[in-house]
Amino acid sequence: MPQEQCYMCDEVATSVEHVPPKCLFPEIKDSGVDLRVNLITVPSCEEHNCKKSHDDEFLMVSIAGILGNNSIGYQHYNGKIQRALRRTSYKLLEKVFLRKELIRIGDENQFLELLWGTPDHERLISCFRYIAHGIHRHHFGKNFNGIIKPYLGFLYTNEKNPKTFKAFLKEKARLELAGKPKYGDNPKVFYYQFTDPDEFGLYLGRLCFYQNVDVYISYQPTEAKAPYHLGFELMNSGIKTIFKLGDKEFEFN
Ligand SMILES: [Zn+2]
Repeated sequence: MPQEQCYMCDEVATSVEHVPPKCLFPEIKDSGVDLRVNLITVPSCEEHNCKKSHDDEFLMVSIAGILGNNSIGYQHYNGKIQRALRRTSYKLLEKVFLRKELIRIGDENQFLELLWGTPDHERLISCFRYIAHGIHRHHFGKNFNGIIKPYLGFLYTNEKNPKTFKAFLKEKARLELAGKPKYGDNPKVFYYQFTDPDEFGLYLGRLCFYQNVDVYISYQPTEAKAPYHLGFELMNSGIKTIFKLGDKEFEFN
């Protein structure tokens, strides 16, 4: 049997790695149904397996408790995640949120506890970059060479430009992914989609968790032409720019 290559580097794989991490998928004892059907795995070297394992719990705490998730995410948050939090005396939360508040809504008998804070954006980006590489390897059967940029569609921002850009990206993804198949055998926990490559050879992936948390991945393969887009140049240089997408307009600067 030929030796397999790690999904992140040129080393020979010594183990397999779950993408996304297995801990995002609730166990039967918590959910009552099997949500770990045909989990996606990719071959991984020693180094990349270890590197990533520290981030798995971080990712789980960061995204399973997000408001708007389906009941699977909510159950998961109340089961496994609360256990993990209690086990670490809530220190895990300190690591996930750079700044956090616990908000309680309701009376003393029935209340909803919400986490509200500023997640560690850089670390989340790094986690999703690994997942994006893993999904690529799984879907296309080969490692991705090039630039991967994750956009966290689920985080709120008050800055006007990032806000508009995210709305723009969301709409672009919605239009280009319409009718594209959803992959993943546990869609209530996770599925992904891919667009066709555009004129430059770039394509977009969508990772969707708990039917609510959307992460958009821009894949720019090494062999793709560097995209030059006058509109984006103007936008980045601070000049008022309006993009039209379908019947919607997005104004920058
Ligand atoms: Zn590796």
